[in-house]
Amino acid sequence: MIVLGIESTAHTFGAAIVNKKGQVLSDVRDIFTTTTGGMIPTQVAEHHTQVADSVITKAFADAKVNHVDLVVYSRGPGLAPCLHVGIAKAKEYAKSFGCDIIGANHPMAHLTSGLLFTEAQDPVMLYLSGANTQIIALEAGKYRVFGETEDVGLGNALDKFARTLGLGFPGGPQIEQLALQGKWIELPYTVKGMDVAFSGIITRVTQLAKKGVAKEDLCYSLQEVFFSMITEVTERAMAHLNKQEVLLIGGVAANKRLCSMLGTMCKARGATFFAVPMQYAGDNGAMIAWQGLLEYHAGRREKKLDIYPYERCDEIDVIWKSAKPPLSK
Ligand code: AMP
Ligand code: MG
Repeated sequence: MIVLGIESTAHTFGAAIVNKKGQVLSDVRDIFTTTTGGMIPTQVAEHHTQVADSVITKAFADAKVNHVDLVVYSRGPGLAPCLHVGIAKAKEYAKSFGCDIIGANHPMAHLTSGLLFTEAQDPVMLYLSGANTQIIALEAGKYRVFGETEDVGLGNALDKFARTLGLGFPGGPQIEQLALQGKWIELPYTVKGMDVAFSGIITRVTQLAKKGVAKEDLCYSLQEVFFSMITEVTERAMAHLNKQEVLLIGGVAANKRLCSMLGTMCKARGATFFAVPMQYAGDNGAMIAWQGLLEYHAGRREKKLDIYPYERCDEIDVIWKSAKPPLSK
């Protein structure tokens, strides 16, 4: 069985073709970027509309196939104008192949692709992307959220400060580079139970930037404080849930300092740290294809083709037996 996955929740329009062994036959992406601002949903959707056909055509060419048995689209959460582009293209291609189509929850796809691409078995999952910051684990048939951000997502918080510094979007990688030359300055630290909050800290570094504090020092200290907060709640989740693995997923997983901090914490506990391979850390169609295939294989069919801009991963029943390949039939 060969599956086309289409991703369009935010900045990335992606198309990928995956088989039931979990092999990625192709993975093509076109990412909206800007040097001046953030993401304006209608502008991003316009970008997706313009690149959709060429991205999907290339995905078929790279995979050397001209037919799929299932089309999967990213149904949410995400920016509604962008989700509309994805579902429309998915319908178009499913119709042309006369095959089934189902929607996949985007965060869930990040989680299960983390299991597809790593050896992790039963981890505490740390989902750190632009809009999302959640500490998640599979317990009693659902991926349950044990801690999360009380305001913005970690990536968006970094992007917001990057915008203040005039670094463009996405800002996380730029902040990571500047941080290499920085030194520590005192910042607030806001962990509340199992949750974290980033906005107040962003307000503080913005004030300090306006006062002329070196941007390298601000970037370094911002990373140290954000990543320490995340590491603290992750460790507490591991202790409560008695889990011996951490799996980091989402675009912020590309950050080396974050990985090293989590790795140090895991080592101290005798636990194992996994991060989704860098090439699959960001949004991509392959994870959408795999998620759809898991659900389709477990018997789910889409009753109503729609988008769900606010759907959370803990709303979804985990009907598939394992997220690991190969699928049985
Ligand atoms: P996603 O929404 O999962 O595609 O992730 C995108 C987010 O990851 C954006 O907010 C980026 O700024 C952030 N990001 C990407 N690379 C890095 C990095 N090296 N360090 C920190 N954040 C990053
Ligand atoms: Mg994502």
